[in-house]
Amino acid sequence: MWMKMHFGVRPKKGWYSMILEHFFPDIFVKSVYELPVEALKAKGIRGLVFDIDNTVAPFDIAEPDKDLIELFLFLRKQGFRLCILSNNSKARVRLFSKNLKTLAVHRAGKPGVKKLRQALEKLQLLPENTAIVGDQVFTDMWCGHRAGLTCILTAPICNRDQLATKVKRGVEKLVLKEYFKRRWK
Ligand SMILES: [Mg+2]
Repeated sequence: MWMKMHFGVRPKKGWYSMILEHFFPDIFVKSVYELPVEALKAKGIRGLVFDIDNTVAPFDIAEPDKDLIELFLFLRKQGFRLCILSNNSKARVRLFSKNLKTLAVHRAGKPGVKKLRQALEKLQLLPENTAIVGDQVFTDMWCGHRAGLTCILTAPICNRDQLATKVKRGVEKLVLKEYFKRRWK
C-alpha cells in the first residue's frame, strides 16, 4: 500500500490509521500568514499552490484584501512561484486572482490531480519542490499527496462554508482529531 511519512506525525499501524494518513497534512498552520517560509526554503520548496475559499479568503468575499496582496508580493520576493488552484467557478477565480497577478486555475477538480499537474508544468515546478496550501483534507491535502507535493493545512478562515463543504467538515473532524493526537508537540 502506498505510504508517505508525514512530518511530525507518529506512524501507526492498522488500516484505519493508514487510510486516514492519506488526508493528513505535512504541516499545519493557523493561517497563510504563518507559513514557515525559511523552513520551506530549506526543504527545497520553490512553489506554492494556494486554494482560495477559506484558505486565503472567506468564500463569500470577492476580492483579496491588502494583506493578502502584500503576502503574495512578499512570497514572490522570497523566490517562490505562486499559483491559485480552486474548485470554484471561472468568474470567482478570475475576479479574485486579478490583483494577485498569478497563474489561476478554476474548476480544478481537486482531489483530482490533472489540473494541478498542468499548473506545475506551466510554472516549471516539480512536485517535490512544491507545496499545496489549503483548508480541506479531502480536497487540498488528498490532491497534494496524490501528486507528491508537500501538503500544508490551514485552519479555515471562518466557519461559513458552501453547503458541500459543510457536509465534509463533519468527517474532516475525525481525520484532524487523529492527526492532532499523533502530531509531535
Ligand atoms: Mg477551501
